[in-house]
Amino acid sequence: MIEKIINYRRDFHKFPESGWTEFRTTAIVAGFLMDWHYTVLLGKDAVDTSFVMGRPSDAEIQKNIQRAINQGADETILEKMAGYTGVVAIMDTGKPGPTTAFRFDIDANEVDESTSDTHRPTYEGFRSLNPDVMHACGHDGHTAIGLGTAEFISKNKDQLIGKIILIFQPAEEGVRGARAIAEKGHLNHVDYFVAGHLGFHLESGYFSPKASGFLATTKLDVTYTGTSAHAGAQPEAGKNALLAAATAAINLHAISPNSQGSTRLNVGQLVAGTGRNVIPEFAVLKLETRGASTDLNEYMLDKTYKILNGAAVMYDVEMEIKKVGEAGTVECDAELVSIVADVARGISDFDNIVEDHILGGSEDASVLMAKVQEHGGKATYVFLGSKIAAGHHNSKFDFDEKVLERGYKFFTHTVKKLNGV
Ligand SMILES: [Zn+2]
Ligand SMILES: [Zn+2]
Repeated sequence: MIEKIINYRRDFHKFPESGWTEFRTTAIVAGFLMDWHYTVLLGKDAVDTSFVMGRPSDAEIQKNIQRAINQGADETILEKMAGYTGVVAIMDTGKPGPTTAFRFDIDANEVDESTSDTHRPTYEGFRSLNPDVMHACGHDGHTAIGLGTAEFISKNKDQLIGKIILIFQPAEEGVRGARAIAEKGHLNHVDYFVAGHLGFHLESGYFSPKASGFLATTKLDVTYTGTSAHAGAQPEAGKNALLAAATAAINLHAISPNSQGSTRLNVGQLVAGTGRNVIPEFAVLKLETRGASTDLNEYMLDKTYKILNGAAVMYDVEMEIKKVGEAGTVECDAELVSIVADVARGISDFDNIVEDHILGGSEDASVLMAKVQEHGGKATYVFLGSKIAAGHHNSKFDFDEKVLERGYKFFTHTVKKLNGV
């Protein structure tokens, strides 16, 4: 099994797909789950498309479906997906018992993987074949652990009770995918929910049953549209979108900190204009706000909208704002934290259990966790320690594959603990 999981991981690593384009990955995962007799939900049965955020253009989607076909994806499964990635799979044992859900994220990053011969995926032959896309966060490992766990559940169904739901979530990066899964109602009757991440500044052999410090966040794409004009002959006829965007960017970064807790803002991209002697007609800003609480993120957002509007007024340009990602803060439930901590203590491969580990970023598992808690279920987020070759999202990222075995053991032992006869 461990060898199989390593092979899954390396295959996903070689064919990475970024958020909402995980067509090959989804088709492979769904194919296995069908073989293992799960009820497999795909496309509009898996996600509520009115809550899909930050999905690429239709042309981009078509291009990625074609790439998935070229890279061996099953076309009948692709058809069932109807352009939407992600899988929700249900194993009903037919016996009364709790409903447990696990979430594994499946997307890659928009990073061009290192070609250095000191980078293991390069010298061991599983470097990304897709330019500018790379599994640089470890979700290839999460997906592989999820498949191992899925097979275990299927093979051991007779020893299990209740229902187990496996969520292979698209578009975690940029916190774009979870809401569409949550709003579809898959989590409305879940008693226990566990999600997790490998690496994240925990060494190999470490485990944490609890994450804290989730930052609430909102991701916005802002487009300013002005009027182009000859910069020498008739500059007064132009409306300068570049200056509106630049003014907004500078002032957004000057939003006051808040005495109630930490906040963040980043304008990560500004693209504007068409040529040296043309008054810039358009500008696009990609930015994000964060806060230690939902209120603090709201504070940042409120100021952000005012500044964006103000800049549009100053330069007399049109503005369009698109929300392309969103996640809240969440607390892990003590009861489930203590259950999964016990599970980990019973696995000799973990030599160190850290009580609580700070995420210090955003993760849209928080959206799923909040949905479970809203309906009275318990949720937690765990960390599976792994030495990493470079930071998450770095082009030389790689992890210690021993974490795959530890992750498999953790999830399968958790299944036995929560849904064992
Ligand atoms: Zn990431
Ligand atoms: Zn990640």
